[in-house]
Amino acid sequence: MSIKQRLEKILEGLPAGVKLVAVSKFHPAESIAEAYAAGQRIFGESRPQEMAAKQAILPADIEWSMIGHLQTNKVKLIAPFVSLIASVDSDRLIAEIEKQAARYQRTIDILLEVHVAQEQSKSGWSYDELQHYLASGALQQMEHVRVRGVMTIATNTDDEAVVRGDFQRIRDIFEELKPQFGEEFDTLSIGMSDDYPIALEYGSTMVRIGTAIFGAREY
Ligand SMILES: *Cc1c(COP(=O)(O)O)cnc(C)c1O
Repeated sequence: MSIKQRLEKILEGLPAGVKLVAVSKFHPAESIAEAYAAGQRIFGESRPQEMAAKQAILPADIEWSMIGHLQTNKVKLIAPFVSLIASVDSDRLIAEIEKQAARYQRTIDILLEVHVAQEQSKSGWSYDELQHYLASGALQQMEHVRVRGVMTIATNTDDEAVVRGDFQRIRDIFEELKPQFGEEFDTLSIGMSDDYPIALEYGSTMVRIGTAIFGAREY
């Protein structure tokens, strides 16, 4: 199947209103251009240099989503154009995004990445750390950062019950945090190539799909 055909197949299965982030990390700009020609506009990348290099040569109306761990000293590479930083996992990172967004007179949308998976290795705030940060009031100082919701990566396992447990947990956290934010807190980003049909059952509003669109990545 071509990228276009795979994209169309996935889009058919998404309920109205669910956004598709086509995860193009490690794939060449030509593959993105192919998906773009098929109508896709939101692309996800995990490395800031790679995103910036692709952004420079691809159409300006692409919405770039940062989905990988972001070091504070790399925020400046993507701050001029990034649409969404979906992997925000520390107070220092938010402060830097605020600083860079202000510098470019922009507002940058972010998702709070929360760690709910069973693996230690997964990034993201623990629930307790996040609560602590939110209670600190630091977020209220950020005038150029708009918190749109939460994101997580479920446990990488064949045990569907574990994956469902992770999705239920992040869904609960999403619902719990919602009242603290405004209308704009509308994004629950869960679901990747292997687990997005399950994520949809738990109310995902934004799936992040790479392999099922572009094929296997070559590292
Ligand atoms: C790579 C990545 C994806 C896409 O994974 P696939 O299994 O290729 O669909 C989604 N979300 C994050 C955070 C990723 O790093």
